[in-house]
Amino acid sequence: MDLGIKGKRGLVCASSKGLGKGCAEALAEAGVNLILNARGAEALEATADEIRSKYGVEVTAVAADITTDEGRAKVLEAAGDLDILVNNAGGPPPGMWSDWEREDFIKALDANMLTPIALMKAVLPGMMERGWGRVVNITSQSVKSPIPVLGLSNSARAGLTGYVAGTARQVAPSGVVINNLLPGIHATDRAVGLDQGAADAEGITPEEARNNREQTIPARRYGTAEEFGQTCAFMCSQHAGYMIGQNILLDGGSVNTTM
Ligand code: NAP
Repeated sequence: MDLGIKGKRGLVCASSKGLGKGCAEALAEAGVNLILNARGAEALEATADEIRSKYGVEVTAVAADITTDEGRAKVLEAAGDLDILVNNAGGPPPGMWSDWEREDFIKALDANMLTPIALMKAVLPGMMERGWGRVVNITSQSVKSPIPVLGLSNSARAGLTGYVAGTARQVAPSGVVINNLLPGIHATDRAVGLDQGAADAEGITPEEARNNREQTIPARRYGTAEEFGQTCAFMCSQHAGYMIGQNILLDGGSVNTTM
């Protein structure tokens, strides 16, 4: 399918690995020129080279912490006028409801709520003026069904979801489309870390931990960054113009709800 976005300019935050990289690849395949970002320069440059040579699009790599004011300023300066924004950052650490103090919440809110909001506030006026824009926020299945040990994530992402619900409807008249993409478990470094944590806690191998988790998923497997990226690219496409303020779940059926 032609996504109709060849030649557009897109920023994918936190994209040297994992889900962000999957989104960057799928957008590059659709002909989008990219600004990629991560903190670690080495993996970021390697991903930028890989995408440039595979898809022939322009790729600018900006090594910066997207959760800081300085990092965002650096990325936005390199980005210029954007048509597409994919918001992403690392997720907060697990713990118990009683563990977290104000500072922990502020850190999680900064990374997973206030950073995407700041980036949207920076790019939406230009998109609205030009009459076209697409924003996808990578959040989590925890928005629909809480993951108890990820209370910081549950809280911050719920806040972002509320902001998007109203904002998406305010900018839609100007041709700007904002939606959220909610991953369930996907085979990335983060999933490897979660499997290792479960293995340590239960005295089993990481492979056994993954197998146990897979048995709880109706699709009986982890998602891939590639298929996640293809869904993101569709949400950034011409064809997604009537999809406003939605929360699209990619979880292999894990969240057991009718709607
Ligand atoms: P990942 O494989 O660990 O990749 C994270 C990427 O983000 C890396 O490129 C990393 O590079 C970059 N990054 C992290 N913090 C950053 C920061 N402050 N500034 C700029 N770049 C940053 O993670 P993932 O699995 O793709 O997860 C992406 C997001 O989806 C996370 O918020 C995660 O909580 C959420 N999520 C993932 C899953 C899953 O199963 N994978 C499920 C639900 C939700 P550097 O470390 O070099 O910065």
